[in-house]
Amino acid sequence: MRYISTRGQAPARDFADVLLAGLAEDGGLFVPDTWPHFTPADWRAMRGLPYGEMAARVMQPFVGGAIPFDVLRRICHEAYADFGHPAIVPLVQLETSLFAQELFHGPTLAFKDMAMQVLGRLFDHVLTQRDARVTIVGATSGDTGSAAIEACAGRDRVDIMILHPHGRTSLVQRRQMTTVLAPNVGNIAIEGTFDDCQDLVKAMFADTGFRSQMHLSAVNSINWARIAAQIPYYVAAALALGAPDRAVAFSVPTGNFGNVLAAWAARRMGLPVARLVVASNRNDILARFLEKNDMSVAAVEPSLSPSMDIQVSSNFERLLFELLDRDADATRTMVLTFRQTGRMPVPDTAWHRARSVFHGFRLDDAGTEAEIRRLHGACGYLADPHSAIGIAAARALPTNGGVPMVAMVTAHPAKFPDAMEKATGQRPALPPRMADLFGRDERFVVLPNNLAAVQSAVRALVGRNTTAGA
Ligand SMILES: *Cc1c(COP(=O)(O)O)cnc(C)c1O
Repeated sequence: MRYISTRGQAPARDFADVLLAGLAEDGGLFVPDTWPHFTPADWRAMRGLPYGEMAARVMQPFVGGAIPFDVLRRICHEAYADFGHPAIVPLVQLETSLFAQELFHGPTLAFKDMAMQVLGRLFDHVLTQRDARVTIVGATSGDTGSAAIEACAGRDRVDIMILHPHGRTSLVQRRQMTTVLAPNVGNIAIEGTFDDCQDLVKAMFADTGFRSQMHLSAVNSINWARIAAQIPYYVAAALALGAPDRAVAFSVPTGNFGNVLAAWAARRMGLPVARLVVASNRNDILARFLEKNDMSVAAVEPSLSPSMDIQVSSNFERLLFELLDRDADATRTMVLTFRQTGRMPVPDTAWHRARSVFHGFRLDDAGTEAEIRRLHGACGYLADPHSAIGIAAARALPTNGGVPMVAMVTAHPAKFPDAMEKATGQRPALPPRMADLFGRDERFVVLPNNLAAVQSAVRALVGRNTTAGA
């Protein structure tokens, strides 16, 4: 399997290259040059398989010849071995035709673990083959950083340094990062905002000498391997509810459009998916697009669902490329226009195509809180603010003919104790394996918003580990 750029000006690459590179050289996103297709018989043959085995089979065509199937199967098995639920991605029935799929049973209690746990192991495998090392640097406002740290901690060929805004993440989120004491993990609290952290990371990548010396790499949500590793749970839900002999629909709380794009990919591969609901908070650019072809940037407003406080959903570019019949020139022009003007002029034909599958939905904080309370009262289910928006969206846009709707549950409610308590009067407890989170030792440094200071901290981390390994 080869990968091409959505902007058409970068050479095709294999899975291993795409994994390490993240972004294509022309600034575009990698997509498979052809979509794999599974027949109904192929899907049926996966019914009842353990999650890791099924995941390896779904991902295999994307990996192609880059990694042997035995290795991929071992990686998928190990990635999910320590999850806190034997079903890995359990379905909970909320109403006759409404289900919740819990994606939060990984080490950091958020759905990012589903892909990151696979990614860390893929990195190790590919880097061992190439006898290389990388240094992952990233900025986080919460969930992504901790999932990346958990995925990379203790890996032989990866160092990871995560920047977070000092005092501006929740205590659970900070401690999930800073209590991982593996020698290849570093945490920097920047005296500044999340945007300052992001600018520092961008500046490190822009410093080409530093970048090549440190072998900088990223695991952000545009990495194709993350999308590929998110397809299997849609397959798991669909098979459990009767696919391929019965269609299903999904509702996905959406920020960077990665999770819902994986659902679209499953559909593109032949899974009978009748509808995809894109659920947003007050940052509703995707809902406005789907409703009236208005893709225009507004200021990001903070909400109860911070992982969806996004205006530019980077993975949308992959869908746009498909909506435009894979016309890379048109995609590039549109994306650059969007960057310059804050408005994306999507042709009506492409917009109608999007609307034939995707439905938009938005819910403000008051509505989110009401939905958390309603759900708790109706069936005793505690859904975090992100997931509550997805469930509200599923209820607002029911399918016809009893097609089951599955709402993705993307975080454990204990990650958002204040919002949960306000809505329900109950403070959800951390699961037993995390109950000691507040008693663990922490390690992080506080640095000013200063590139040189951050770069020397990265150098120190990398220097320590390469010397130790030499
Ligand atoms: C990251 C995240 C999302 C958004 O997922 P995307 O793939 O960016 O659309 C939703 N909910 C939670 C809890 C998240 O951490």
